[in-house]
Amino acid sequence: MATKLASYDPSNGELLGEVDVTPVETIDGIVASAHAAAIGWRRLKIRERVAMLTHAYAHLEPIKDELAIMVSREMGKDLRRASGEVRFVVSKGSAIAQSVMAALQPRNAGGNSWVEYKPLGVTAVISPWNYPVAMAHNLIVPSLVAGNTVVFKPSEETPLVAQAYAERLNEVLPPQVLQTIYGDGVQGQALVESDVNMIAFTGSQATGKKIMASSASNLKRLVMELGGNDPLIVMSDADIEQAALFAVANSVENAGQMCIATERIYVDEKIAEDFEKRVTEVAASYKVGPWDMEGVNIGPIINARQHRNVIEHIEDAAAKGARFLLGGVEQPERYINPTVIADITPDMLLEEKETFGPVVAISRYSDIDEAIERANRSSYGLGAVVYGGEGANAVADELEAGMVGVNQGVGGGGEAPWVGAKQSGYGFRNSPEGHRQFAQVRVVNR
Ligand code: NAD
Repeated sequence: MATKLASYDPSNGELLGEVDVTPVETIDGIVASAHAAAIGWRRLKIRERVAMLTHAYAHLEPIKDELAIMVSREMGKDLRRASGEVRFVVSKGSAIAQSVMAALQPRNAGGNSWVEYKPLGVTAVISPWNYPVAMAHNLIVPSLVAGNTVVFKPSEETPLVAQAYAERLNEVLPPQVLQTIYGDGVQGQALVESDVNMIAFTGSQATGKKIMASSASNLKRLVMELGGNDPLIVMSDADIEQAALFAVANSVENAGQMCIATERIYVDEKIAEDFEKRVTEVAASYKVGPWDMEGVNIGPIINARQHRNVIEHIEDAAAKGARFLLGGVEQPERYINPTVIADITPDMLLEEKETFGPVVAISRYSDIDEAIERANRSSYGLGAVVYGGEGANAVADELEAGMVGVNQGVGGGGEAPWVGAKQSGYGFRNSPEGHRQFAQVRVVNR
């Protein structure tokens, strides 16, 4: 890799800035300095670490609008979404730190046994580009509160946002407690193979498998939030309007670049015509364009490789006889228009793989068992949603996913875990059980 990592605006290819790539041969030294810093960090009382993080997050407050614009420019999402992401992070920093602290209090396990939660050492936090602040924050806060120091490797697509976020926190945190390294999978792999104790990763299933293999030699702790191919089942007694609004929003927002995006829809044939019609109308109301254009709610696709991937899935569906209700094989450069495709079959890439683009992919079913079987026929198991009447709960029960929504989207509120089933995750975060995965459980008899 070159010595500089350039960052481009995905809407027009304009150079936004660059950072120095971290030479691979320096990574072991950086991790060694993180181990040295861990000695002082772990000796602080947990409430002192929480107080420091709360103070550090207060430093983000004055730059939150600037940071949101950076997210829009570097990643492409519209400003409303980028502001929502940054505001969520800034407002939740302290609350999440407090809830990690509560989860890590020592407790009496009966008799003379006490369960304690001790730091692991150094955590490697490796993050994706689609929510460039939130995904990093979700893994950095529990790592630090638990008493670990962090070496953070953000996505090569969004280094400038990561740099601004980490630099601001480092105005408060002690030296070397949070260090950032820049680069792509080469730096990521070197970090995984270094002397870190834990890898907290959010990204694709393919990278997750490589990380697991590379970290096997010394059994590093792993928490991995991986990709999804989320199904939505719409039953005959569903509220068609609500189901259609959800189906479109969750397929196309963030340009479909969400781990819990709806990737495939199974609708009962009795209501399919009305549902498809309404989905098409709603999808047509979305506006594609750069983040600062009035009324835009679908931005560009992150890069040319991912753009090609979405086009390939659309072309594959066309070649195999799918029915196009909106959009088509021809798509603009850098963008994918909201696209609605019906008569998806199991052999199509749209059904089989994670598309990560603003495509609504619909199949009709005549028998609910067939819909459930197709929904579950996937190596992924992140989220799954069902819209319907009373029977929806029984269908939800059958779905193989870490997070299930009945007449609403997935994604735990408050203290719920964020968790993938099957090959969508390994370990999980958030909730007391999730927070404890960033610590070593220790039993002391006293
Ligand atoms: P990616 O797997 O390509 O990259 C993620 C990170 O891993 C980047 O920082 C990258 O440089 C690094 N990396 C690449 N190869 C590596 C290696 N061999 N060893 C160590 N690190 C390596 O994913 P992406 O394209 O950045 O993100 C999109 C993916 O993330 C999608 O699959 C999406 O579903 C998933 N995702 C999941 C969640 C979740 O909560 N489950 C959330 C957001 C995104």
